[in-house]
Amino acid sequence: MPRTKPPRLNRRFRRPRRLLAKHEISLVVLLALVPVFLTLTLSFLWTVRHIEHQMAFLADATARRSEKILKVTETNLRQLAEHTSARCDLNALAFMREKVFSVLYIREMGIINDNRLTCNDIQRFTPPVLITDRESSKISESDGEITIVPPVATLQGGKSMLVNYRVDARNYVNALIDPDLFQEFHEYVRLGEVSSVFLVRGDGKAVISFGTMSEGDLPPLMESIPHQLQHRGKLFSVYKSGAFPLYAVVASSPAFILRQWRDQSLPLGFSGLFISVALIALLKSNRRRRSLLQGELWQALENDELVLHYQPVIDMHSQRCVGAETLVRWQHPEQGLLMPLIFLPAAEQTGVIRALTHWVVRRVEWELGAFLKNNPDIYVSINLSPSDLGCDGHKVGFEDLVIDLVPNGQIVYEVTEQSLIPDHVTSANDIMQSLRRRGAKVALDDFGTGYSSLSYLHRFPVDYLKIDKAFVDGIEDEAESASLVDHIIGIGHSLQFQLIAEGIEHLYQMRYLLKSGVQFGQGFFFSRPLAVDEFLVFVRERNKEVM
Ligand code: C2E
Ligand code: MG
Ligand code: MG
Repeated sequence: MPRTKPPRLNRRFRRPRRLLAKHEISLVVLLALVPVFLTLTLSFLWTVRHIEHQMAFLADATARRSEKILKVTETNLRQLAEHTSARCDLNALAFMREKVFSVLYIREMGIINDNRLTCNDIQRFTPPVLITDRESSKISESDGEITIVPPVATLQGGKSMLVNYRVDARNYVNALIDPDLFQEFHEYVRLGEVSSVFLVRGDGKAVISFGTMSEGDLPPLMESIPHQLQHRGKLFSVYKSGAFPLYAVVASSPAFILRQWRDQSLPLGFSGLFISVALIALLKSNRRRRSLLQGELWQALENDELVLHYQPVIDMHSQRCVGAETLVRWQHPEQGLLMPLIFLPAAEQTGVIRALTHWVVRRVEWELGAFLKNNPDIYVSINLSPSDLGCDGHKVGFEDLVIDLVPNGQIVYEVTEQSLIPDHVTSANDIMQSLRRRGAKVALDDFGTGYSSLSYLHRFPVDYLKIDKAFVDGIEDEAESASLVDHIIGIGHSLQFQLIAEGIEHLYQMRYLLKSGVQFGQGFFFSRPLAVDEFLVFVRERNKEVM
């Protein structure tokens, strides 16, 4: 190693003041909002579904309950009509009294002739009482059918629902029904299960209505109305009675739906918030780790904690050492010697890599410059990452990669297949071309493990293909064919590249490769990566032995 002081990191490569990317702030905002937004949306959809379900159930229950009450009433009114032919006599009074006494739903019965109440279950009226309210005297257009009338004031006080049964065009009998019988529909509203419940006659008149909506809010009711529908922003569930011209309608207003959503989704909203907080905490700890690592990497560069090892490359024909691959390590103050795969990914992600490569180039120049000048048959290779070739979108030049002290023919730049993917290829290609114009060589590292498409490989300014260790591992015997590595070697030959096999660990692997026409090799079989002094001794000894 030279006695002069090692070069410092160039001032142009400075630790950025802000270590964290700006886009991370928007990521935090996104992480905070997305789970809350998702849980609220899902809970809203769930609330609407739940309400629709509830409404369908209640509309069906309302229709059934009303039919049951009306069927009993209709049967008793028919009997009254048949028994009395709508004529008031003692027999009719006795019949009505018996019905009022025995039928739970009926409060009062009466006989109406020519729109005048002639008698009810209590008395005969002399003169008969003229019915002035038009709604109360409404009867069906056909004999033997009932008409339901919304609650009206009765002679006894209070309000009752009326059911009129037409005997003929001039006479009808009626029954007063206690509206409390329908009180349970009111419970649906009171308990907050729906916002309104209606019982609607075929002509659209609401005979029962509970809740905040009015008759005017109802949708037009037709024979073929769907069970579930939306009308003017409100949700309706409609069940048509099979026995009477009657619809049971339950409804939910937007305000009601929002209230339900608010009440039910609050816990869900909290869980969304909880997920957001957890995600942000995770992101923050990740950011902290990254920022610590990034800070540490800069510190490693500034404090000269990185070291270079050189792994000899052997010409397998002559068995001479023809060069070395430069491999970086981090002499971590606490964790000891760290291998590049532990810290390089972070260096690549955080952009420290360009400063690191620059450091490697300067350090190679300092450590091996003089040696290489005196040994023109030895080369050194330097690994470049995609960012060094501008593949991360930064504008970079080739000047930072050049070693002035060393003749360019003795430098090989190793690029990976990632640098050649079409998105980045222009920038990478320009830099590789510039380096080659100066006499340097380019090797495609880890060949066969990445993206390289044969169809465009020949277009790249590449001199060497480095066959990845994974393929060399496939050679299990000197004599037996290893089809994968054969295939890779075949490609290299057809494109007329020089081949360097990596990761040779056994003699039979070397022999197999040599037999297959691979000239250069690198691997633990020849030597592990060495510190610079060890490497210089290795070259001297090895090349002396094979002279
Ligand atoms: P690579 O460029 O493919 O380097 C070869 C790797 O294989 C080295 O690992 C080397 O120690 C290892 N190796 C060589 N022969 C054998 C063998 O016979 N058996 C086994 N098991 N391994 C062998 P290392 O040093 O851990 O480097 C890993 C990777 O890190 C390198 O792969 C290279 O892509 C990257 N790297 C190393 N130094 C630098 C650098 O200065 N800059 C950049 N950008 N990348 C570097
Ligand atoms: Mg390499
Ligand atoms: Mg490799």
